[in-house]
Formats: sequence, C-alpha cells, structure tokens
Amino acid sequence: MDKVRVRYAPSPTGHLHIGGARTALFNYLFAKHHHGDFVFRIEDTDIERNIEGGEASQLDNLAWLGIIPDESPVNPNPKYAPYRQMERLDIYKKHTEWLLEHGCAYKCFCTPEELEAEHERQTAAGQAPMYNGKCAHLTPEEVAEKEAAGMPYTIRIRVPENEVYEFDDMIRGHVSFESKDIGDWVLVKANGIPTYNYAVVIDDHSMDITHVFRGEEHLSNTPKQLMLYKMFGWEAPKFGHMTLIVNENRKKLSKRDESIMQFVSQYKDEGYLPDAMFNFMALLGWSPEGEQEIFTHQELIEAFDEHRLSKSPSMFDKQKLIWVNNRYIKERSLDEVVALCKPFLAKKYDLTNKSDEWIEQLVSVYHDQLSYGAEICDLVDVFFEDEITMDEEAQEFMKDETIPNTLHVFKEKLSELEEFNKENIQACIKATQKEAKARGKMLYMPIRIATTGIMHGPDLASCICLIGKETAIERLSKF
Ligand code: GLU
Repeated sequence: MDKVRVRYAPSPTGHLHIGGARTALFNYLFAKHHHGDFVFRIEDTDIERNIEGGEASQLDNLAWLGIIPDESPVNPNPKYAPYRQMERLDIYKKHTEWLLEHGCAYKCFCTPEELEAEHERQTAAGQAPMYNGKCAHLTPEEVAEKEAAGMPYTIRIRVPENEVYEFDDMIRGHVSFESKDIGDWVLVKANGIPTYNYAVVIDDHSMDITHVFRGEEHLSNTPKQLMLYKMFGWEAPKFGHMTLIVNENRKKLSKRDESIMQFVSQYKDEGYLPDAMFNFMALLGWSPEGEQEIFTHQELIEAFDEHRLSKSPSMFDKQKLIWVNNRYIKERSLDEVVALCKPFLAKKYDLTNKSDEWIEQLVSVYHDQLSYGAEICDLVDVFFEDEITMDEEAQEFMKDETIPNTLHVFKEKLSELEEFNKENIQACIKATQKEAKARGKMLYMPIRIATTGIMHGPDLASCICLIGKETAIERLSKF
C-alpha cells in the first residue's frame, strides 16, 4: 500500500464542532495507525461564510486535543502546498481548461432566475429537480457571442450518460449510484471560484490522499467526485462515510441544539481534560474489541481499526463523557487538579484570604468525585459562606433531643485541640462517640449539619478542617 495520507478539510466558517473534531480524530487515528500523514486543508471557497480566525481556531482546538497535523497551511510540505483552496485557484483553472477542451464541461449562461423557475416547474411536476441541459449544446459561436456580450456564466460538468458509479465504502460496504440521477452540476461558479465537489477532487488527488473518512452527509457527493476521477483518469481514494452523532433523543446533533455543548472550546472552558475528550470522542462511532473504555492516546492509535467503525448513529452520551473525564481527573496529581480548578474558584469566590494550602485541601476533598473543573464551584459553596443554611429536612433532623449534648461534647473536644488537623478532628469525633454515646447517623449527621448546614458531603473531618477552628466552634455553639 502507498503511504497512507488522509486529510481533515474544514471550512473556516466556525469553531471546531464535536462532529468535525470526531472526523479529524478518526482520520488522525487511521493515519497514525498506518504510520501515515494527517493533512489539514482549508476549504474556504464559500467566501461569504468564512469567519475571521476560523482556521486558527480549528487548529488551536485540534492542538488542545492533541491532534497536530503533519501538514497544514502553517506547516506546509512544499510538495503539496498551498493548503488553502483560495490560494489554489490557478490549479483548478488549469484543470477546468482541460475539462472544457475535452468536452467534459461546458459554459452555462442560464440566469439564477431561469434556474429557479425551472426548479419550481420540475418540483411541481413531481420530478427530481436537476439542470435541464439548456446550455449543454451551445455552438462555439453562440458561446463566443454570449461571452462577448459580457453575460456571466458558470461551468458545468457534462455528466456522462448511463454510467454507474460504485465503490466499496469502508464503513457502509458496496454503494452504487447511476449517472441518470445526477444533473449536470456546477464545477465553477460565476465568480470563478470552484464548488466543493470539484475542488475537493483536485486537492485530494494532487495531495496524494489515499483514504477519506468524512460525515455521511457527503455520501451523495461521492458519485459526483467519482465521475471527475474517471474523467481525469485518476485513481480515487478509498471512502468511508461515518454515521451521524445524535443526541439523547436520537436527533441529529445540530448546532442549534442547546442540550449539548457542541464546540470543543466549550469543553476546554469548562475544565474538561483534553485526553479524556480524545478518549471519549474515539468511542463516538467506533468501538474497540473487548470491554476496555479508557485508552491512552497511543493505545487508541494502536487499537484503531476502521472495520470497527459503526454503521449506526452514535449517541453523544453526556453521562459517559462525565464518567470518562472523572476517570482522567482521578489519575491526575493533586497539583494538576488544583491548577485545573483554581481559575474557576477565583472567578466565583474571593480567594484573597485563602492560603494555597487551604485551596489545595479544598480541592483534595473533591478530587475523586470531580467530573470537570468548573464543577468544583457547584460543590464548595458551604466553605465560602459566612452563615450556614439548613433546608427543611436538616432542620427537622436537628430537633432530636440528644443532639445538643452531642454537639456540646464535640465542641469541647475541638476547643481543646492544639493542632487543628484532619486526624485530630477525626479523633474528636471518635471521642464524642464514646462520651456522648451517639453513634453512626446520630453522631455524624448533627456535626455535619451544625458545621456545614448540609446533610451529606465528603469526609467530615476534612470539611471541618477547611471551615477552621474558630468558625466551627462558633457554629457548634448555636445549637
Ligand atoms: N469541507 C467539507 C466539510 O467540512 C469537507 C468534506 C470532505 O471531507 O470531503 O464538510
């Protein structure tokens, strides 16, 4: 097999979407599995839709995920450059001339209004709308005349009659399309800029692309591309059309769906870990052999096998992402998790009087349960409030008549402590158990509610340590 070369070819019309990131990831895993190249190319021919910074944002988000292209507009291989379609117009032009000379394409002078009217007529007659071939047989003189009159034109491909375009899709198996179902489509728009289906063929061929993994919305484009490969006498790459990503209601992920964060940068901003995202996305439409779900970058490269790409839609399971991310957070050192959480804490709370040690202790209490960085702020309010607040259930619980004595004993023990640390606080709880004869729930729950206001939480001694001796005693005195 030739050296594997794949590409991810986004339009710079937005930021890196989950769907795009998954396409990039599968191409990347396939390339690296086969020791091949992963190329990043920009399809920017839809100029009105391009956004400022779109390309850099795509590249930055890929880099955050750990996907670094071997070639890209910022890291070009001179053999294949340039990597932005708008910088390749002269390359397309040469090929267009060849197609025109060989009768494979023709100039079409139909106006948008004419085309629109024909489209409506065909639809009303229950026909599939396609170009009616009006300009397909203009004589050279007629063409010259219209051009001389300054009439704008597009260039259309002359779709061959009675051809069948078939290929073995790496995911879907054998697929075939008939040319009679495809009207003469536009290769070059009136502004001289090629359409996607045209430019992509020239680029994939001239960049020696061997395999293409892309979204299933491109399946119906493939026969259009195959007819060009055939006309030019080029070998087409192998195609694999990946299934949709759907939400929990089995609906296609659309950019407007607010139930799921759709852009990679949003996950970065919420404190998800890039290697967890990489791992999670690799399982969106691909499954390894066996039950393993947590993989390193390198393990995924080794395990990746295109035969195990799914034929059915893959569900974006938020709970699973949270689970995967938590697994990665647990593996990180406390220092790393503190670094992850601190910006979120600093944004919500005033940390000026909090020592680094205190912040570290705070994060360490939640280290094992944390799903993503920003979540820390949903968990730690009780450590930043001046007063505790109890809900009704806690208030009801605190009515038990044995509680004041238990709390009193505990408070006395705490007051005597010289070194206020977790171990010593734990010893005070134990001593209170004996002296106040309170056990289990009747020991822990009152102390927790009195000091934090809440009925459940992480390790009690650690919580009291974070609250501090003075505040804990003050709170205990109120009961
Ligand atoms: N620019 C196209 C897209 O973003 C690429 C399609 C392809 O991979 O051929 O969908």
